[in-house]
Amino acid sequence: MVAMHGVQKWFGDLHVLKDIELEVAPGEVVVVIGPSGSGKSTLCRAINRLEVVQEGTIVVDGEPLPAEGKDLAQLRADVGMVFQSFNLFAHKTVLENVTLGPIKVRGLKKADADKRGMELLARVGVESQAGKLPAQLSGGQQQRVAIARSLAMDPKVMLFDEPTSALDPEMIKEVLDTMVDLAKGGMTMVVVTHEMGFARTAADRVLFMADGRIVEQNTPEAFFTNPQTPRAQDFLAKIL
Ligand code: ATP
Ligand code: MG
Repeated sequence: MVAMHGVQKWFGDLHVLKDIELEVAPGEVVVVIGPSGSGKSTLCRAINRLEVVQEGTIVVDGEPLPAEGKDLAQLRADVGMVFQSFNLFAHKTVLENVTLGPIKVRGLKKADADKRGMELLARVGVESQAGKLPAQLSGGQQQRVAIARSLAMDPKVMLFDEPTSALDPEMIKEVLDTMVDLAKGGMTMVVVTHEMGFARTAADRVLFMADGRIVEQNTPEAFFTNPQTPRAQDFLAKIL
C-alpha cells in the first residue's frame, strides 16, 4: 500500500531521512518509535507529500507521489493524516468539519455527506456533538472528530503523528480505543506514538528510528522483549 525505496531527505545540511526502505502492506499497522529528532514526523509527512524528499521513490497504492494540482488533492484524500494538534476548522461545526472534504474534493451531495458524516461521528463516539463548534469539545473529542474527518475521505492509508501526546491522560484511552477499532477494521496505518500499550495491542510491526534511519523493526512482542541494537535497548530502558 505504501512503498518507500532509497528515500533521502535533507533540511539544508541536515540529513534527516537516510536510506529509507519501507513497505507497508494493505491492512498492516506499523508503529514508529524513536528519540526526538530521529525523523519520525518527517517520514510520515513524506508519505502524503507534506515534505518533499530529494531522493528515492515513494509509492502509494501503486502510484508514485504526484507533484501538484488535482492529483495532489487526491493523494491527500487517499492518505489521511491526524496530528498532535487537531487542526479542526474553528468556525465550522463538528459535522461541517467532517463533510467539507467529501463535498469539495469527492463531490458528494450535502445530504449524502451529512448522512455519512453522522455515521462516522457515531463510529468515533461523538455524534451528540455534531452541531457544536470544536472549541466546545474536549481535546479527546476533538481528536476523534479529526479522525472522523480523515475517514470521511475514504482514505487508503491513515497516518497518525503522536495523536495523543497533547491530550490529558483521561482522554488518551478514548482516542487509542478509536484507533484500535480502526486497526481491527483493516485500515492500513502508520502511527508515530509512544503509547506502547497501543503498539502491543494493535501493531503488526514496530519500527525503531534513530538519527534518520530505520535501525530496527520487528513484531511488537519481539521488539519489546528482545531489542537487538544498543540504541533500541537504551531507548526502551528510558521509556518503559
Ligand atoms: P519528535 O519526537 O520530537 O517529534 P521526530 O522524530 O518527529 O521528533 P522530525 O520532526 O522528523 O523528528 O525531525 C527530524 C529532524 O529534522 C530534526 O533534527 C528536526 O529539527 C529537523 N526538522 C524538522 N522539520 C524541519 C524543518 N521544517 N526545517 C528544518 N529542520 C527540520
Ligand atoms: Mg515528530
